[in-house]
Amino acid sequence: MMRAITVKPSSPGSLDVRDVPDPVPGESDLLVDGLALGVCGTDREIVAGEYGAAPPGHDRLILGHESLGRVREAPPGSGFTPGDLVMGVVRRPDPEPCGACEHGEFDMCRNGRYTERGIKERDGYASQSWTIESDYAIPLDARLDRVGVLMEPTSVVAKAWEQVERVGARAWFEPERVLVTGAGPIGLLAALLGAGRGLDVHVLDRVTEGPKPALVAALGATYHSDEVGKVTSALRPDIVIEATGAGSVVLDVLTGTGGYGVVCLTGVSSAGRTLTVDAGALNRELVLENDAVVGSVNANPRHYQQAAQALAHADLDWLEGLITRRVPLERCHEAYEARPGDIKVVITLDGA
Ligand SMILES: [Zn+2]
Ligand SMILES: [Zn+2]
Repeated sequence: MMRAITVKPSSPGSLDVRDVPDPVPGESDLLVDGLALGVCGTDREIVAGEYGAAPPGHDRLILGHESLGRVREAPPGSGFTPGDLVMGVVRRPDPEPCGACEHGEFDMCRNGRYTERGIKERDGYASQSWTIESDYAIPLDARLDRVGVLMEPTSVVAKAWEQVERVGARAWFEPERVLVTGAGPIGLLAALLGAGRGLDVHVLDRVTEGPKPALVAALGATYHSDEVGKVTSALRPDIVIEATGAGSVVLDVLTGTGGYGVVCLTGVSSAGRTLTVDAGALNRELVLENDAVVGSVNANPRHYQQAAQALAHADLDWLEGLITRRVPLERCHEAYEARPGDIKVVITLDGA
């Protein structure tokens, strides 16, 4: 038996750490010792009973989609050897499959019947060991053993950047300035990848204290905490990567770009909050500037490879600075409580 973090989806208060059977690797699977697990808003929604689904025929789900582990056993020809640092892709194509899934782009699944480790109908990585199909295992540079748990959110950001560049490529596009709204893990990693592209990077967040302003400055980027409309009219960014999901911020950035602006929305809002919008003015701005807005979620193996490259070349101390709390497995309840000053909270699975 091994210890795992489980939840009964749709049942708030059902989070627990319990004994579950050891995983049995299939013929082409890796057996992996879990090192760490990242926690994000999706996990908190599942713990609150608002999201998530157990595997068919089960009533509990093993949580966790932001994985980091070390290979214990690898089948010959898998390309992995024991001791390798590894993480697992979250999504699997739908069983149908739709056209996007058929083309390997299951992050773009059209029928919504995809499954996800730790979220939707597949057990996750919140256990002392786990198995993974070698096709869905992403090797990580050995120097990332403390911070490789940031890979999954980085893959989401790598996809967002790819979307921006592909949308921009519909005409002449040589962006200079990017505004990132929200300095959580997604926003800060988006700023990291923007700085890596040589862009003039600006990050906006509400807080003026804590580690965020210094993390932004360390990238050579500029931190803002003014009102959104004020910042966008001063900057007129070529690109906005929106990572707050806050309705009013979203509306402000849609009309806040320069001409031929690209806005990529990555934050998930909760429905039910109503704002008054001047739809005519919004339409006018988008049309007259040839602006584009694209939503982006999840990632496919191409984006994971891009993320692995980006992290392999990033400053380790800077990455470590994003991890503001490490909580041991048996005290995981604390990790699912949002606390002031949190950026990325990590659960350690190896007793470290
Ligand atoms: Zn996540
Ligand atoms: Zn599909």
